[in-house]
Formats: sequence, C-alpha cells, structure tokens
Amino acid sequence: MTTNRTFTMVKPDAVESGNAGAILKMIEEGGFRIVALKKTLLTKERAGEFYEVHAARPFYNDLCAYMSSGPIYAAILEKDNAVADFRTLIGATNPANAAEGTIRKLFAKSIEANAVHGSDSDENAAIEGSFFFSKTDQF
Ligand code: ATP
Ligand code: MG
Repeated sequence: MTTNRTFTMVKPDAVESGNAGAILKMIEEGGFRIVALKKTLLTKERAGEFYEVHAARPFYNDLCAYMSSGPIYAAILEKDNAVADFRTLIGATNPANAAEGTIRKLFAKSIEANAVHGSDSDENAAIEGSFFFSKTDQF
C-alpha cells in the first residue's frame, strides 16, 4: 500500500543545537506537507521500542540513550513518493557519506547523532506515525 506519507524525527542533537526550525523549513521547501507535528521526550524504554528492529546491533544501547537524551520533534509528512524522496533529502546515515545539500550533510554531528530519522518503507512509516500520533492528530 502506498500512502504518500513518511515519518520523521528531528533528533536530540539537532534540537539541542537550535536547528529544528531550519530543518523543518528544508522539509517544507522540499515539497513535504506537515500532517502532524509535536515536540516530545522519549524515555529510554520508548526509544528502545521505537528502534526494536536494531536490538541486536552493537550500537543499540547507545542509540537508545542518545535518542532519550533530549527532546525531539516527531512529524508525519506527505508528498508523492514520500519515503524515497525524504531519504534523498536527508542523505546517508553517516554524514561523512551524505550528499552535499542534504539535511544530514548540513546538520548531523556523527553517524549516531545524525540530526533526523526517516522511515525506510511505507509500512514502517505508518507504524512509526501511529507510535506518536492518533488519527485525530493527522490533518
Ligand atoms: P534512521 O532509521 O534513524 O532514519 P537510517 O535508516 O539511516 O537512520 P539505520 O540503519 O536505521 O539508519 O540506523 C538507525 C540509527 O541508528 C541511525 O540513524 C543512527 O542514529 C544509529 N546508527 C546506525 N548505525 C550506527 C553505527 N554504526 N554506530 C552508531 N550509531 C548508528
Ligand atoms: Mg532506519
């Protein structure tokens, strides 16, 4: 099922360094419509639930600590081909490999503190969106 929606988080490093507004501006200028948006703080347990798919990876514990280290912005975004186009806009996981002009190239600090999350499939976009938002939060 194609929903034309993706899910993003502006991660703690980008919020802490005051880049959330600039990142949301790039997202809107990239043609994405903000369907839902909130600033929130994940507990380590909830970060662990969100990134459950990575539970076996060596960086999982650090990732959960980092993702709960400060507030994030969570958002559902809409655009044709949203999942793939958003991954293009944010760039590679490791900012050292991210293309010029991408959000991670501009704002990420490291492979872990990489400024933004972007869903990797339509199915996960829907799961991740409903992790943060009820249907009545989505316009
Ligand atoms: P995201 O899911 O956050 O959009 P991604 O899909 O580009 O990122 P994943 O492989 O899903 O990358 O990894 C999830 C997150 O885990 C990364 O965004 C990063 O914060 C962290 N991470 C990934 N690989 C490493 C690593 N080798 N060392 C430390 N942290 C990592
Ligand atoms: Mg991922």
